[in-house]
Amino acid sequence: MDMTLDALDPGERWSRLGVGSTAVLLGLEIRRVELKLTNPVRTSHGEHRRRPVVLVRLSGVDHGAPVEGWGECAALADRSYDAEDVDDSFSILEETLGPALLSATSIAGHLPSLKALGALRSLAPDAPLAYAALEMAVADTHLRSTGSSFVDWIGAPAGPVRAGAVVGEFRDVGELLSRVNVLLDQGYPRIKMKIGRGADVEPIAAVRQAHPELFLQVDGNEDYTESDIDHLAGLDRYGLACLEQPFHRDDLATHARLAHRAATPICLDESLASPETVVSALEMGACSVVCVKPARLGGIGPALEVIQDCSARSVPLWMGGMFETGFARAVNVALGAASGTDWPGDLSPAASYLRQDLTVPQARSLGAEDPGNLIPSRAPGMGPAFDREVVDRHTARLVRLEAGPGPGFGDG
Ligand code: MG
Repeated sequence: MDMTLDALDPGERWSRLGVGSTAVLLGLEIRRVELKLTNPVRTSHGEHRRRPVVLVRLSGVDHGAPVEGWGECAALADRSYDAEDVDDSFSILEETLGPALLSATSIAGHLPSLKALGALRSLAPDAPLAYAALEMAVADTHLRSTGSSFVDWIGAPAGPVRAGAVVGEFRDVGELLSRVNVLLDQGYPRIKMKIGRGADVEPIAAVRQAHPELFLQVDGNEDYTESDIDHLAGLDRYGLACLEQPFHRDDLATHARLAHRAATPICLDESLASPETVVSALEMGACSVVCVKPARLGGIGPALEVIQDCSARSVPLWMGGMFETGFARAVNVALGAASGTDWPGDLSPAASYLRQDLTVPQARSLGAEDPGNLIPSRAPGMGPAFDREVVDRHTARLVRLEAGPGPGFGDG
């Protein structure tokens, strides 16, 4: 690795990735892979059973040797959670971002650095998840072609990183308690419960009574309104680590009022769409804990910026999850290591919620035995290798874009 990187912070190191690259891009594949969740997850937004995933694969050559890189998109099956769903991400990648990357690479004569790639962001302002997938694929290509791992490149500590478990809403408290017991037996140091209007006090009280010392947090997923402020302040009696996103994502003012009224720390997730929104939410007192989701923030670069801002303000943060495959989940584990957070994140192994993960089993089992102590992958690239046979078997749609003889192509 370039020794001058040692003096830089992780965000600066990230933007330097790919500087001086000689990799030439030959083509780009966009896939939609159909996966299923092991257990349906019920939240205040509805029930999720399927997990379609959009993947981007770049292929090229560097000094005569083939190079490739993968990116995974966080977009879900529908727009109930993010404004961008898998179909939106697929179209933007196929019609706008993919061709723009091929064109930019052709003009420059090599794959852009992460800093140079940022120019493409403005082409898809409403598709942060698609852009983040492209960014991941470009970064993965650079890292694999230079033999570096993501954690080593950004200079993150070796870990360990703690993973918490998430339970959806249960109609039956007995079922909820037995699920929680199974997760605690597996070693998870934290439980996060999904709650909603009319489905909060009873389940929270039951779990808290059964586990008085448990690191317990709850997620309202925007289900509540201003009229629920008194009710939510009443959750103080359960000693929750935090109450996440009770109100609509655009309603920071009501979050600030609740934060002022309640002792329970308020955490934001859906509201945090950029480093700027994180800073303004903290400054107006709308939250005192931050959930970091790189894709929603606009990619790894913005996520590293948020990690740095929170660290400078001593604001606790934890890594959120989007039911990623083992690939993007490994990226989040690495970011958890970079952040130095001691709050367990939504980082349980993909095999614990997907019927079929897409990464190779050896890599996936790394750290999976002890969710309290995840060790970031040090294999070259952003995450562990995909199992190509499994990816192909679950691919429902595949589009290939080829590099054309654009301006400057082939003349160096
Ligand atoms: Mg959440």
